Amino acid sequence: MSPVDAALTTALAELAQAEHLLVALDFDGTLAPFVDRPEDARALPEARLAVERLLEVSHTTVAFVSGRAVDSLQHASEAPAGVLLVGSHGAEYRFDGVAAHPPLDEVDSARLAKLTAGFARFSDAHPGARIERKPAGFAVHTRGLDADAAFAAEDEARRIVADVCPDATVRDGKDVLEFSVLDATKGDAIVHLRDYTGATAVLYAGDDVTDEDAFSVLGAGDLALKSGEGPTIAPFRVGSPAEVADVLDTLASLRAATGR
Ligand SMILES: [Mg+2]
Repeated sequence: MSPVDAALTTALAELAQAEHLLVALDFDGTLAPFVDRPEDARALPEARLAVERLLEVSHTTVAFVSGRAVDSLQHASEAPAGVLLVGSHGAEYRFDGVAAHPPLDEVDSARLAKLTAGFARFSDAHPGARIERKPAGFAVHTRGLDADAAFAAEDEARRIVADVCPDATVRDGKDVLEFSVLDATKGDAIVHLRDYTGATAVLYAGDDVTDEDAFSVLGAGDLALKSGEGPTIAPFRVGSPAEVADVLDTLASLRAATGR
């Protein structure tokens, strides 16, 4: 463990005083280092330990908020009992092992069927790109492809979607392009989690473009933490998942020291 920056430590000490604290965390690039095969990603042991320490403190809730489908998030995160799971950027919820999101309505089911048909031959033309089926859409993963192959795959995916389901929500991530018939964001997820848990303060940590939606709904008394490079509206930044783990460990100690 490394010491956390002084300004960040001060902010964490304030956050630790919250009546009910929600610690909401992105997974890939935040708790888990990036790997070529998304199914192989795992949280750093230090991050997992810090999450377990936070779960032991009363009036403290931990949630994982990911772009992954919730099944994939549960598998990769090996989420300890008590962690609330939010998948597909807020389109899927799993609380205490139970699905907590509404099923797709008829209109969205029909739109998803059109998307599915549109992508039927995609893998033949782009064998290096990986299609991930989600409850409300698709993700096209291009990690590991050279720039030309990645561009060609993403370009064709955009053309298919423009053709069969032009009002689908499109999200650009790191080596991933996603299409959803729902327009939920991680910001919606944080609003819902805050309401569901009754949290009086929120820490959100994330590394990617879609995490900015979550940062945007945080306010006074909350803490936004960016992991890694890239532009952000978050006032605090650390360099890597290892440093996120340091922050969570520090927060767990400060929270436990409040005597809760
Ligand atoms: Mg991420």
